[in-house]
Amino acid sequence: MADQEPDFDIIVVGCGCAGAVAAYTAAQAGKSVLVVERGEYSGAKNMTGGRIYSHALKKVFPDFEKEAPVERKVTHERIAMMDPTANMTVDFTSDKLSQEGKDSYTVLRAPFDQWLSSKAEDAGAEIINGIAVEQLIKDDAGRVVGIKAGEDEITASVVIVAEGANNLLTERCLGAKRPTPDEMAVGIKEVFQLPSDQIEQRFLCPKGEGAAMLFVGDCTHGRTGGGFLYTNKDSISLGLVATISQIEKADNPTPIYQMLDDFKHHPAVAPIIDGAKLVEHSGHLVPEGGYNMVPQLVYDGCLVAGDAGMLCMNLGYQVRGMDFAVESGRIAGEVACKAIDAKDTSATGLASYKTQLEQGFVLSDLKTFSAWPETMLDWKRMFTEYPKAVEGIFNAMFVVDGQNQKHLKERIKPIIKEMGTWKTLKEVRGALKAL
Ligand SMILES: Cc1cc2nc3c(=O)[nH]c(=O)nc-3n(C[C@H](O)[C@H](O)[C@H](O)COP(=O)(O)OP(=O)(O)OC[C@H]3O[C@@H](n4cnc5c(N)ncnc54)[C@H](O)[C@@H]3O)c2cc1C
Repeated sequence: MADQEPDFDIIVVGCGCAGAVAAYTAAQAGKSVLVVERGEYSGAKNMTGGRIYSHALKKVFPDFEKEAPVERKVTHERIAMMDPTANMTVDFTSDKLSQEGKDSYTVLRAPFDQWLSSKAEDAGAEIINGIAVEQLIKDDAGRVVGIKAGEDEITASVVIVAEGANNLLTERCLGAKRPTPDEMAVGIKEVFQLPSDQIEQRFLCPKGEGAAMLFVGDCTHGRTGGGFLYTNKDSISLGLVATISQIEKADNPTPIYQMLDDFKHHPAVAPIIDGAKLVEHSGHLVPEGGYNMVPQLVYDGCLVAGDAGMLCMNLGYQVRGMDFAVESGRIAGEVACKAIDAKDTSATGLASYKTQLEQGFVLSDLKTFSAWPETMLDWKRMFTEYPKAVEGIFNAMFVVDGQNQKHLKERIKPIIKEMGTWKTLKEVRGALKAL
């Protein structure tokens, strides 16, 4: 099979952010490209929080925000810490958040992925929807030479696997290790329709601009994870992400769908979605183990991009996966084209994919924050005692009941003492080191 002329230069498995950008890049360079996507249309099975940071996509489509179906430019960043009855929110806005290349946009994946896939198609890529790739075909030497989808076996000089977080092909055919429950989270999201002017009023945003909000604490009933809220044009995406090992445990009495229901009824969230109509419900895996869970990304005849390569990062205040997927997809497309031109599509010929990911932000950022996933997992009190302490401190500041008041220091001291001053300092120091 290896000596025969392949059916395509490049086959891409999956048409999410990584796959569509890889296909676009390779098709633009004049290569014959086939994309196989199991969803009935691109984006049909995809989900994100979510907001995409623009920098990576701008390298591929410099003016994408003018034509892509983006929802709102994010100009308000909010971080909230909640216990069952209280909530403390930091609301940050700055003109830097709007600057070209530093800007970010909320997206809904069904329209966004269809736009990305249409760009790949316009550039000449052939896209087949509604068929899942079942296997990667290898030659006798173990080199990937194509795919098996349904009854068909289709060959290519390079296969780019961009199958997302549920990376069964990468695991079964390329030998990647199955992620542990500590390394994977489950995401659950609902979309609520709300008129655009009401969104702007509720978030105090100028017309067309929006907010991104991350929550920690009671939203996951004190389990490792957090809540998110993103404003779209005329809807709100609201959801939770929780580490699988923390919610599968027998001692966890609250399934994640119940957590989401409780989150929606929390006094800090309920007014935001009051009167809004629930129009969508979805769930998805999120790779959260960071750098230490990244599998081998380069094989003879094959590259792995995006979530399939576990290229995703959750720092608690920043969630990134789509810009990593876009960047890795672009680099995979470019490297595959160069290797084909150089007539060396072995792992050696494709090796610059990994080097470029290391030199650029994808593997470099994942490496910088490689200690964070474990730190977060061990920092159980961040999800329980810290929100409670924050409630105590802010109550000490704001509650006035006519009793003789002590100095603020005296009011706060017992709360800090209960937390354990040295233990807290040690935890915060450890977290700051990892972040
Ligand atoms: C709840 C949640 C919140 C998130 N929030 C954010 C956020 O705010 N910002 C951010 O940047 N990232 C966020 N992420 C991460 C981000 O969504 C992912 O990193 C990104 O979608 C990865 O893109 P991808 O193209 O690699 O994978 P995907 O988008 O998952 O695409 C994979 C594609 O492959 C297809 N496929 C799979 N198997 C096969 C097969 N065998 N044959 C054919 N096709 C196949 C799938 O149908 C899919 O279309 C979030 C993720 C979740 C779940």
